[in-house]
Amino acid sequence: MRQTDILVIGGGIAGTATTCFLAQHGRQVLLLEQSELAAEASGLNAGTLWATGWGRTPDLSSTLCMGSLEIFQTLQLDLGYDLEFRQDGSLQAMQTEEEHAFARREAQKLLARGHHVELLDSRDARDIEPALAPGIVGCLYYPYGGNADPVKTALALASLAQRRGATILTHHEVTDIAHLDDGAYQVVTPLATFRAKTLVGDHSRTGVNCLLAERGSSCCSVCTRRDSSQPSVQFAPVLEWSHSLRFIVQLFQHYETG
Ligand SMILES: Cc1cc2nc3c(=O)[nH]c(=O)nc-3n(C[C@H](O)[C@H](O)[C@H](O)COP(=O)(O)OP(=O)(O)OC[C@H]3O[C@@H](n4cnc5c(N)ncnc54)[C@H](O)[C@@H]3O)c2cc1C
Repeated sequence: MRQTDILVIGGGIAGTATTCFLAQHGRQVLLLEQSELAAEASGLNAGTLWATGWGRTPDLSSTLCMGSLEIFQTLQLDLGYDLEFRQDGSLQAMQTEEEHAFARREAQKLLARGHHVELLDSRDARDIEPALAPGIVGCLYYPYGGNADPVKTALALASLAQRRGATILTHHEVTDIAHLDDGAYQVVTPLATFRAKTLVGDHSRTGVNCLLAERGSSCCSVCTRRDSSQPSVQFAPVLEWSHSLRFIVQLFQHYETG
């Protein structure tokens, strides 16, 4: 049976980023992915980085989006990974007058809090994106927004994790998890069995909570806890791709400081 301190299930952006940041902090970490890295949502999404600036009083949302942007910049500019990252704004299109009215109210709220967003009519929006569909009545324009290639991002995080000592195994579908008497977890795939002190997974995307529930084990949620008697199972929530990186760092810091 292979041993590891921390076992991460799922090789999307949440799993690869978690593995990367844990390895950066010297943790022994192993990631299992059932198919290829970024095979699901993290490889299929549009790669839009939603961002409205920090605002006058940075809140959770602005910390996650602007903090994640900084990590994208670090990966591409400082560490040399080509993510096709660019920060040249993003557009959110409105197809009906009702959507446009809703967008106006949202923009007013954001502007009042010191964020950066513009409500454009269809002509101004077309100046930025000439290929907009004819029926679009207007757009919200986020000048701080951007884009990156989602597959390249996950592969970069995985590569960096491996350079930092992590092990990543693809084509390892987790089919069973057992909570052992000594508090560790036994994780089964058709190819091998693993033993880990701590599991990290995403409950909605990997089904690990169902596997645990079948075994009568409980799990704690986003709020991780350091509990000497019960290794915690940490589940990342469903996150916007563009907010994930800063969220994982935040979660890790929370875990480290207890
Ligand atoms: C069409 C679409 C467009 C989107 N556009 C954007 C966008 O522009 N901007 C944005 O911020 N967000 C966007 N999103 C949302 C974003 O893609 C997701 O929030 C994000 O990718 C979730 O990442 P994840 O790592 O949590 O999940 P996933 O990428 O789904 O990763 C989960 C991984 O777990 C693996 N897995 C599952 N079960 C097991 C198992 N039993 N054993 C081992 N591995 C397992 C899967 O194979 C998968 O690789 C979009 C989503 C979709 C679907």
